[in-house]
Amino acid sequence: MSRVYNFSAGPAVLPQEVLKEAAAEMLDYRGTGMSVMEMSHRSRDFEEILTTAEQDLRDLLNIPEDYKVLFLQGGAHLQFSMIPMNLMKNRVADYIVTGQWAKRAYTEAAIFGKAVKIASSEDKTFSYIPDCSDLPVSPEADYVYICENNTIYGTKFKELPDTKGKLLVSDVSSCFLSEPVDVTKYGLLYGGVQKNIGPAGMVIVIIREDLITEDVLPGTPTYMKYKIHADAGSLYNTPNSYCIYMCGKVFQWLKSMGGLSVMKQRNEEKAAILYNYLDESRLFKGTVHKEDRSLMNVPFVTGDKETDAKFVKEATAEGLVNLKGHRSVGGMRASIYNAMPKAGVEALVAFMKKFEEENL
Ligand SMILES: *Cc1c(COP(=O)(O)O)cnc(C)c1O
Repeated sequence: MSRVYNFSAGPAVLPQEVLKEAAAEMLDYRGTGMSVMEMSHRSRDFEEILTTAEQDLRDLLNIPEDYKVLFLQGGAHLQFSMIPMNLMKNRVADYIVTGQWAKRAYTEAAIFGKAVKIASSEDKTFSYIPDCSDLPVSPEADYVYICENNTIYGTKFKELPDTKGKLLVSDVSSCFLSEPVDVTKYGLLYGGVQKNIGPAGMVIVIIREDLITEDVLPGTPTYMKYKIHADAGSLYNTPNSYCIYMCGKVFQWLKSMGGLSVMKQRNEEKAAILYNYLDESRLFKGTVHKEDRSLMNVPFVTGDKETDAKFVKEATAEGLVNLKGHRSVGGMRASIYNAMPKAGVEALVAFMKKFEEENL
């Protein structure tokens, strides 16, 4: 067996310890004689998996009692419509457009009401986070929406916007559990788990209880009401049970590592190794404003398409894989999520140095 260093933006690297445990339990989960994949989602064993996963997530993020945790399907994309359907009571919502995912959410919201783009960084290929200290928040807005870490462009909100008293809704897909957050600052935060937590196929929604009501937009399908899922404890229909099990293992791994403040420190150390090198390199350059740099997704370019392609190809041969950048930015992108060990980032930088010497 040989494992590569996988810099994919998602689905992405998982902790090796977690994969090993899952492998050991694949044929016989703790004496049940079956895999978790084969288990009824109404069984006692699965119920324990689900409640433990939720409790561990609550512990990690310090989620207050008056917030519900929902394990849903449909990925982050389904939230682009579930959010307006459930929260856009006045049919007005403000969007801060800092990348492709925020733009998709904004476009989707416009199906249901007046989506107002109150700030954007599209003028410079989303390479920065706009100033959000004094936004033209709409008086009627039901919420202000952000994408907190922009997976494709490599920017992150270091400070939450001043929403002037409006609810904050945040897509945290690619920075979920990368550092501690104050859940009380949000009305709703959510993320697809395939970036920084588990396998693809699930989204976790953390929502303040009073926002879960029957008062949704007319025509909202039953399945798209938060209330249905909250009342059923994420078991309204068959959930992605194996994904819940895997995420639960990752939560336990995070706890064993020391929790989110330790993860933040590790993530800062890892990102610094790469950013410090990018700042001194004569061949490679980071593509975003320094003060807005993401700890999770690091895009960089050489400025020459052929050199970029050569780099990606040679890195792959060295076991440093999935470094090709998103088509809208070009160049390279290294996603260095929680499960990427420091040794992986060190190996990448060592290879970049060698490549720089050979190609300048
Ligand atoms: C990947 C990603 C999405 C889309 O996720 P799906 O699960 O494929 O719908 C949305 N937002 C962010 C920030 C992402 O990184």
